[in-house]
Order: sequence, then structure tokens, then C-alpha cells
Amino acid sequence: MKKILVTGGAGYIGSHTVVELAQAGYEPIIIDNFSNSEESALGGIQAILGREVPCHRIDCGDAEALRQVFKTEGDIAGVIHFAAFKAVGESVQKPLAYFHNNVGSLITLLQVMKEEGVENLVFSSSCTVYGVPDHLPVTEATPTKPANSPYGRTKQMCEDIVHDAAGAPDNKVHTILLRYFNPIGAHESAKIGELPLGVPNNLVPFITQTAAGLREKLTIFGNDYDTPDGTNVRDYIHVVDLAKAHIVAVQRLLDRKASEAVETFNVGTGHGNSVLEVVATFEEASGQKLNYVIGPRRPGDVPAIYADATKSAEVLGFKTTTSLRDSLASAWKWQQTLSK
Ligand code: UDP
Repeated sequence: MKKILVTGGAGYIGSHTVVELAQAGYEPIIIDNFSNSEESALGGIQAILGREVPCHRIDCGDAEALRQVFKTEGDIAGVIHFAAFKAVGESVQKPLAYFHNNVGSLITLLQVMKEEGVENLVFSSSCTVYGVPDHLPVTEATPTKPANSPYGRTKQMCEDIVHDAAGAPDNKVHTILLRYFNPIGAHESAKIGELPLGVPNNLVPFITQTAAGLREKLTIFGNDYDTPDGTNVRDYIHVVDLAKAHIVAVQRLLDRKASEAVETFNVGTGHGNSVLEVVATFEEASGQKLNYVIGPRRPGDVPAIYADATKSAEVLGFKTTTSLRDSLASAWKWQQTLSK
């Protein structure tokens, strides 16, 4: 079994990917500092897999601790690097924390991977690297524009760092950059899912917490955008579909099928939905009426973005299978489990 190190493996996308890795026959090893995740995710993973997945409680910006993990584990075939801060709105409030954590940990990881001779990396990038695109949907060839938030800028910087590192004469690392659109929903077992600490920044956990009575109302951030119904448009992808894209990417790297030292793929459904459409679909899927109001725009938000998913379909053979309705139903099932 090939060992795959998963930084941020106790987090939302990380935990779902750990499960998919194990079920695909890999041996996932988690690194997490639990700054934005909870120990209970490890219990959920164990409940699904029927066995414990090893977890190192370290910060992957800590080079020495990271080195120790590589040495203790030995034979790491590849790394999936999720560990990062991820909230667009929060990044506007705390830009330095975002640059320090997101950019710093990638540099440390690349240095240690080089020292330890680990050559395969899947990096969590984001559709925020496209900024406010001129045309929709965005393809991987769409030029990146200035990011609309410090969070988006950290992802652009990280992509640049990966490209520059790959250009060094002694580079041996192959990287796949996965540009995620908006992950939502939870594992069908409802044993793992999104666990926002405090007030959720993201739309779907805010919706499910409101429906569960934990929040009074959802505020929709603006309905005066140049979109069909005035609210922002995003490409919402089920988190297990997204997790599966990592398995395909890891396999491609291990098989040495990558055509370049750095390859980039959009990971989205190829469909855009507005905030109001998400609300209506949630109401339909859950049978719950949602209390919401329209509020001001949120700094950092782009009006509309969704993926052209052709390249990931043709090159990776990756396709999403879960509808928006089923994704939202899984998020609601998870919320109900949490509420119990
Ligand atoms: N959104 C909203 N109210 C909320 C949270 C989010 O209207 O309480 C909107 C936000 O403006 C964006 C969409 O929902 O258009 C998705 O936001 P989220 O933070 O989930 O993801 P992002 O696209 O910012 O990464």
C-alpha cells in the first residue's frame, strides 16, 4: 500500500479524501494542527473505514516537525497539501495570517519534500485564482486576473511558487494543481462533514445551521450583481466528488503519466448556481423553509464563476456524479446528525 501524506487531513475536504484514499487502496497519513478542524473527524473516519488512520498533530509550517514525520513514516509516495486557511471574507480581515499560513506552509513543505526525496504533490488551489473572469465558464487556460481577496492571492502565489520550484534545474517534484470550485455536502454515512468552528463563513453550513435553528437567518450578500437573479453564481461540487479527483490525480502522478512537471485542472461540475437557487434547492431537498434577508455585498466576492470541466474529464477521466439537490440533502443530513 502506498503511503500518501495528507496535510489538513482532519479538515473538511481532507477527511473525505482520506476516506476515498483508504478505500482506493492507499495508506493515508494525516497531518493536522487542528486550528480549524476537530478531533471528532478522526473518529468519523475510523467509523467509516473500521480502522484508525495515523495522525500527526503538527503544524506543517514547522519544518523540523514535518521532517520528523517523513522520517518516522518512511516511504511516503506522495503528498496532498490541503492545510490552509480558506475563508475569503476572513482573509480580508486577517491578510497577514493568510499569507503566513498558506504561503509559508507550502514553502516549508516543498523544502522538506525535496530533502526527503518525495516527488509527488497534489496541491489544493482554488477558482479564486481567476479573479473576476471576462468569460464564463473558466478553462485552465483562462488568464488569471488580480485576485479579489488575500485568500485568492495566497492561492495565486502558491501556484507561482510551485511553478518556479518546478523550474529549478534540480527539481524532481511533479505537481498537480487542482483548482476547486465550491465544495459542499457531506459523506453519505453522515459520519464526516463540514465542521465550521463558530459562525460559518460558507454559504451551505450557514444555510443548514439556520434551518436547524442555530442561526436566526441567512443574510444573502447582495442581490444587485450583474447575474440572472442579482445574486452571486458559483459552481457547487459535492465534497466526495471533489475528494475523488484527488485519487485520480495521485494515481496519475504515481504512474508518471503527467505530461508536465506542473499540471493544472479545474475541479467543478461545470454548472453555475446563484445563491437564491441554492436556497430554493435546499428548501426543496430538506422540506425546510429558510429564513433569509438580503444584505450588503461581502468584500472579496466575485459576481460569478463556474468551471469548464472539459480538461479534467478528458485528461483525468474525472466527472462529478452528485446533483446540487443531493449535495444539499447530504449537507442537511449531516447537520441533523450534528444537532442530535
Ligand atoms: N454567501 C451568502 N451568505 C453567507 C455566506 C455566503 O450570501 O452567509 C454567498 C457568498 O456571497 C457567495 C456564495 O454564497 O456568493 C458562496 O460563498 P462561500 O463563502 O460559501 O464560498 P466562496 O465562493 O466565497 O469561496
